[in-house]
Parts: sequence; structure tokens; C-alpha cells
Amino acid sequence: MTLNIGVIGTGAIGRDHIRRLSFALSGARVVAVNDINAEQARDVVTQLGIEAEVYASGQELIEAGNVQAVLVTSWGPSHEAFVLAAIAAGKPVFCEKPLAVTAEGCRRIVDAEIAAGRRLVQVGFMRPFDQGYRALKTVIDSGEIGAPLMLHCAHRNPHVSEAYGTGMAITDTLIHELDVLRWLIDDDYVSAQVVFPRATRHTHAQLRDPQIVLLETAKGVRIDVEVFVNCKYGYDIQCEVVGEEGIARLPEPSSVQLRSAARLSTGILMDWKDRFIDAYDVELQAFIKGVTDGQLTGPSAWNGYAAAVAGDACNLAQVSGRIEPIELPSRPAFYN
Ligand code: NAP
Repeated sequence: MTLNIGVIGTGAIGRDHIRRLSFALSGARVVAVNDINAEQARDVVTQLGIEAEVYASGQELIEAGNVQAVLVTSWGPSHEAFVLAAIAAGKPVFCEKPLAVTAEGCRRIVDAEIAAGRRLVQVGFMRPFDQGYRALKTVIDSGEIGAPLMLHCAHRNPHVSEAYGTGMAITDTLIHELDVLRWLIDDDYVSAQVVFPRATRHTHAQLRDPQIVLLETAKGVRIDVEVFVNCKYGYDIQCEVVGEEGIARLPEPSSVQLRSAARLSTGILMDWKDRFIDAYDVELQAFIKGVTDGQLTGPSAWNGYAAAVAGDACNLAQVSGRIEPIELPSRPAFYN
């Protein structure tokens, strides 16, 4: 069976997902696209050479008879309405992060999905599909380093645009750590604090960069995440787990080691798209399989909600300078 997918939002990641659905993955094809900029949607269809109809609105695409599942890759503030519409239409939906821009919005999606009675939502958190994170989790779960006590993490980008402000370090960037670290150590956050070191001269007036986010979990694990989005040298994701009897680190992306001109060197990636390129393939293939099998298994609406609740507390902590509580209600049995 080939799953007919409609894609809302044909910007950077939308176009990339359309490419992988059309040419890299199996079991699906893109039959419908929509973007607020219709010309851009038409260009993507033409440039990729796919046979997809361009719809005037996301709502019409969701309701189209031949669309069996929906991908939401539009601007974050538009996600909630499209995901709720897909649930109302009974169609499985893969939504790029953020699931919604507020925790309340995510909660509305959780409630709608529970009312629908079956899992219909997968959130585009791709790191749990990354081979490196999976290998790290296998080591932690094996007990070889004992119980995790501390995590030291970093999320560094070479640069960001002038439109990227202080709050986006949480909602756009840290959100990936907020999702993957709970999964990695099977724990929930209870508090957050944000501290600001000396700012880099490469930032701009609307962005305090770098930031250090300090999280505490229900089991007492302490996590520090450096978010540094104008670090210049590369796109660099670090994660070190300190356990009772050892330390486990996220592997570096594979890269040739070069001995040349009196130096030992390896490359560092510059583009986030390359860092998790395989994980994007695996997460979308898992979505296709989940829809086809009638059982979605990837990051759920509850994961989207949990990350948003923690993100809201971090945003608050950025402003207050205090340790802010993270109060996540207990997980509904629906998501067990
Ligand atoms: P982008 O390049 O700006 O693309 C978003 C597209 O959606 C634009 O073409 C935009 O049109 C369109 N759009 C906005 N509102 C719409 C609406 N109501 N209906 C239909 N189309 C609409 O952004 P992007 O980088 O692709 O990011 C898209 C989403 O994916 C964001 O939520 C982002 O956080 C997420 N993302 C996730 C990852 C990841 O690692 N998982 C990576 C990148 C992005 P205009 O430009 O005309 O507004």
C-alpha cells in the first residue's frame, strides 16, 4: 500500500521532507501541498518533478478525499489549528516541532487526540531516531555506568538571523534537548533556571547569547545545557552523561580523521540539516509504518506537551532570573 500524504508548508524543512518522502523513503507519496505562498508551493512541485495538487488552504488539503495523512511543516503558530483539523478529520498527522506555540495549545491537541480514541499525532522530534542518541540510551539502560547523576550538554549553531530573539533559544533550539533528554534518562523535569554568561560580540540587540539552562529532574539529576547560537565554528551537539560508575558521551558524527601539514584534524558540520539527516529519514519512515500498521510509535502529542511545559518554565526563568518550577500533570494512561 502507498500512503497518500498532504504537506502543509513548503519552506526549508517542508521541501526537504517532500524530497525524502518522494525519493528516499518507501511506502508513501506526496499527493497534495499547500503554502501560504502558493507560488512557492507550485515551484516546489515543479522543481522536484512530483505529481501533487496545490491546495489554496491547509484546511482544504486536510479535507481532500485522496489525502490519507498530513505533514505540518508550516510556521509554528499555525501548527495547532492544522493538527486539530487533522484530528477532527480522523487523519494521522506528523507535525514539526513545536506541536503548538504554548503548552495550553499542546494540551488542547492532547485532549482532542484522547477524545478521538486513538493515536493520530507524531511530533517531529527526530533525535530519538538518531543512531548516536539511541546508542547512548542503550548504554544508559544497560546499567553499565550506574544511575545517571549529571548531564552536560551543548547546542551550538554557527549563527542565527536577526529575527532570532532570546526566547527562541528555548522554543526553537533547546526544545530538542527538552524532548530528547527526558527520553534518554526516562525522567521528568521539576525546575529550570537560566543564566547568562558574558555575551558574544557576534550577537545582536534582541538576543542574549550564549545562555546556560539548568534543569533538575524528579529523580534529582542535574542537567546543564549551553545554548550558543552564534558560536561561529559549526553546528555542534554535545551530550555527556555522568553516572555512578562511568561516563557516556554522545558519539561525534562520523568524519575522516586527517593527518596533514603537522596537524591531526576532523571536520565539524556547519548545517543542522546534515547533522540529523539520517534521523529525519528514520522518523518519517516510522510515521509511514505507524500509519500503515495503525499504530503510531514515534514522539507523541504528550511528548510535545511535556517539552512545551518545560519550555514555558525556561522562558519564564530567562526573564525572572529565578529557579522556576516545571509542573507536568501525570501522564494519561492513553500514552502509556
Ligand atoms: P520556513 O522555511 O519559514 O517554512 C515555513 C513555510 O510555511 C513558509 O513557506 C511559510 O510561508 C509557510 N506558512 C506559514 N504560515 C502558513 C500557513 N498558515 N499555511 C500554510 N503555510 C504557511 O520554516 P522552516 O525552517 O521550514 O520551519 C518550519 C517548521 O519546522 C517550524 O515550526 C520549525 O520550527 C520546524 N523545523 C524543525 C526542524 C527540526 O529539526 N525538527 C528543523 C527546521 C524547522 P511564508 O514564508 O510566506 O510565511
